[in-house]
Amino acid sequence: MAETLDGLAPLRDIIAEHGLAAKKTLGQNFLLDLNLTSRIARTAGDLSDTTVIEVGPGPGGLTRAILAAGAKRVVAVERDRRCIDALESYLVPHAGGRLEIIDGDALEQDFQALAPAPRRIMSNLPYNIATPLLIGWLKNAQAFTGFTLMFQKEVADRITAKPRTKAYGRLSIMCQWLCHVRPEFNIDKRAFTPPPKIQSTVVTLIPRAEPLAPASWNAMERVTAAAFGQRRKMLRQSLKSLGLDPSLAGIKETARAEELSVVDFAALARILEAKSGSPIRPVISQVSD
Ligand code: SAM
Repeated sequence: MAETLDGLAPLRDIIAEHGLAAKKTLGQNFLLDLNLTSRIARTAGDLSDTTVIEVGPGPGGLTRAILAAGAKRVVAVERDRRCIDALESYLVPHAGGRLEIIDGDALEQDFQALAPAPRRIMSNLPYNIATPLLIGWLKNAQAFTGFTLMFQKEVADRITAKPRTKAYGRLSIMCQWLCHVRPEFNIDKRAFTPPPKIQSTVVTLIPRAEPLAPASWNAMERVTAAAFGQRRKMLRQSLKSLGLDPSLAGIKETARAEELSVVDFAALARILEAKSGSPIRPVISQVSD
């Protein structure tokens, strides 16, 4: 099993042999230090009964670490044909039938259909599509046992931010409403080839058995979009467009969005839903805005 992975060529040699010069358009910043990729894989704990879905295996640094950590199976989605060919030729034959590569765009995948439960998502995410992917997964968070994801530090800070901080916003609320979130560790930009402009952070998200407080996804998106769309304004002003009176949820009209807890937002979302009498339509703007 893991033994068959020993003796594989170093990633630098794989990159040179297969001509995997990094493409900026695909968000390619490769992690070549196998100690670091092992450290990331280990944060997920025991994977022996779990199918890991990896987005963007690239030359396979994290993939190797997940296999070596004993994952039952890895299904890796990659859209760079060069990386797929490299992985098929050097890694799949040594993975003892535990590695499958899917040639495709992660944004178009039905992740639940890719693997049976228990399934977990692990990825050094392509930065340009990291937030839309996360939002898609959150909508069905309970289908996954967890997420081990690397983001730009600034995005990781928003995911894990607490109220009354600059980073606290829509992304913090949607993530923390549905998941326990934990920052793991930062990775210096010099660890990547080529180095990105910014630091990265590994984050673990574990879906809650139940959302932190009841509310519908669309109503949560609506109230958070309205409140943080004018984050410096008092709620009596920022929630006016929704015809929502914060005092009905026991919240001061003079409070600002960043002072409210996730539970406060869920209370506002329920009032909005009750008031509108019909299902709330989805918000067009992204949570990442
Ligand atoms: N996992 C590798 C590592 O840690 O070194 C590579 C990570 S690199 C930041 C992101 C990877 O995602 C690249 O291999 C890139 O080709 C792939 N990628 C970019 N956009 C993608 C998409 N829409 N669907 C699937 N893979 C994508």
